[in-house]
Order: sequence, then structure tokens, then C-alpha cells
Amino acid sequence: MKRKQMILCLLAGVMLCSGCAARREQAQQMLQQQKEKDRYESMTLAMDTVINTTIYDERGEELLLEVEQEIHRLEDLFSVTKDDSDVSRLNANAGKEETLLSEETYSLLETSKKISAMTDGCFDITISPVVKLWGFTEEEHHVPSQEEIDQAMTLVDEDMLQLEGNNTAYLEKEGMAVDLGAIAKGYASDVVADLLRQEDVSSALVSLGGNLACIGTKSDGSLWEAALANPLDETDYVGLFHVSDCFLITSGGYQRYFEQDGKRYHHIIDPDTGYPAESGLLSVTIISQDGTKADALSTALFVMGLDKAVEFWKNSDDFEAVFITEDGRVIATEGASEIFTFEGRDNDFTYEVVNR
Ligand code: AMP
Ligand code: MG
Repeated sequence: MKRKQMILCLLAGVMLCSGCAARREQAQQMLQQQKEKDRYESMTLAMDTVINTTIYDERGEELLLEVEQEIHRLEDLFSVTKDDSDVSRLNANAGKEETLLSEETYSLLETSKKISAMTDGCFDITISPVVKLWGFTEEEHHVPSQEEIDQAMTLVDEDMLQLEGNNTAYLEKEGMAVDLGAIAKGYASDVVADLLRQEDVSSALVSLGGNLACIGTKSDGSLWEAALANPLDETDYVGLFHVSDCFLITSGGYQRYFEQDGKRYHHIIDPDTGYPAESGLLSVTIISQDGTKADALSTALFVMGLDKAVEFWKNSDDFEAVFITEDGRVIATEGASEIFTFEGRDNDFTYEVVNR
């Protein structure tokens, strides 16, 4: 394969020297075809979602396998439904004994606690008993009674998740549980992007349920284009991002919900109330170099609501965001506006940019 590429490069050089525009175009087409030949794609189900990977590299086949193995390895650590995962073992020992975890799980719990503190508890991985109560863990949805919610809420408190050093953690009360659903996919995207960068891959895209890890650029060197979904109609979009080398992660009530008695209940829970967050936002998209943080923040800022989220952004320097509100406003932070083209006018969305 390499030899062929070299020959093509040489050919291109020769043709350029001859100064013939038609031939130059032909050579460029040949190069592009070669790159397309090195396009490898896979789809797998893991972490409760569909994962699509596209790699432009002649080693694509083996790299796809490595990516899939990594994702399944992480699922085996973080799953709340697999009995022998780190998270399930920690949850089963709640109120009984401490649990020795892998270094990776322990470190993700540490990061989670930090983000919880930083977001005033809007992000809280001990929300699990409440998520279960609403039926989002086993997909058996129903609206719980206030009494049930009050009871489950006594088990929600990041301070009762003790990280004791030496990769050992303890949940103080029986019935407590952690759920890494709001951060694990972001972490997985970091791991996978690191893996591909270490292999010197210059063009790859990994979508974990629509959350994107963009590695390098498209194979022709141009920017990746990613659509921002219209939360009211997922077949439609309200704008396009033009990006390279970053993570794009969206949280939205439209991504997972059920309806009962004509009312919609989604999966992002406000840890203050135990109910699906009613913050006036339909979706939050975070753009960052840190996939783990982007995932946790997309959830936390969704819970916070627009005003607090914008304040939070003003006091930080490591992410940009686009918010969509229930009243049809699309609001981009100034850094996001530089890589985003708004295209929602025809669907009655309006567009604003907020500055620091
Ligand atoms: P995301 O799609 O990243 O916003 O994550 C949502 C998932 O995280 C839910 O399906 C729950 O498993 C879990 N979750 C819900 N609410 C919260 C919260 N306030 N903090 C942390 N995790 C949450
Ligand atoms: Mg998240």
C-alpha cells in the first residue's frame, strides 16, 4: 500500500512539473481515491448506544478492532447493568464494605466528584437510585410517587461516596449507587482519541451515540462537518460545526424520554428535585479538547439552565457551548460561534452569540 502511495505521489510530482492542469486534477483525483480506499468503518453496540467509527488509514482494519476492544473494555468497567463491572461491585457493596477498583474507574470517580463540586451538584453520579426509579436503567419507565422520590433522594449525595485512596471506594448507605452514564462516553472518546493519535492517525471520526471525537481533519485536509440536531425533530438540524481535533458532546431531553398522560419525562435528572430537569433548555452541546469534561458538563449545564450555564462558561476557559432553549433560541458562546454556522432560521429558531 505504501509503495502504491509513493508511486502516486511521484506521479503527482511529475504531472505538476509538466504544468498540465488537467493531469494535475487527474492526479489529485487518484490521490483522493487512494485515501477513500483507506477508509475503514465499523458499527458496534456498547455503552447503551450505537458507536460508529471511521478511520482513514491503511492500518484501518486492525485499528478498528483496537477501538472496539477499548470501548468494550471500558463498558466492562463502568456498566451499571453488568454484574461484575467495577461500578456494579461498588454499588453492591454500598453500606457494607469498601471496594477495590481499577485505577481507571477510581480516577473517573475522582473526576466526577470534582465536576460535581464545580457545578454545585448539578452533575451528580450518585443520582443512580433516582434514575432507576424513573425506569431509565432497565427501560421500564413510569412516573414514581413523590414518596418514592423522597426516599430515593435520601441516597443521593456525592459526599457519601468516599474515595479512600489506593483505588478503594465506599458508598456510605445501603441502596446508594453510582451511574457514570453522563461521563463514561466522554471518557471513552478521550481514550479512543488518544489511542488513534498515538498510532499517528491523522483522520478519524468516532461517534458514540452522536457524541463525536474528531481526530485530525477529513482525509482531504478539510474540516469535519457536524450537524447540530434540531431537538424538536431529529431528522432536521439547526446548524453546522466545522471542526478539527476536538470533542463535540450533546445532552438533550429529546435523546431519551417517555410519555405518560400526555407529559414527557426525560432522562436528565435535577439532583435538587429528583425530577427530570426543567431548566428551559432543549439541548446543550459542549466543544472541548477534553471529552470527559465535555460529557459531564453537557449534562450539568443542561440541569443548570441557560443563565447559570453562561455564567459558568464565562468563568472557565476550556470549553465552548451551544444552547438551544425551549423558546427557540440558539445561543453560541463566542468561541463556538467561530466554528458554527446557524441554519435554523426556516424552522423559526433565532440565533445569538454571547461574549465573555
Ligand atoms: P448525558 O446523556 O451525558 O446527559 O447523560 C445522561 C445520563 O446520565 C442519564 O441517562 C443518567 O444515567 C445519568 N444522569 C441523569 N441525570 C444526571 C445528573 N444530574 N448527573 C449525573 N448523571 C446524570
Ligand atoms: Mg453527559
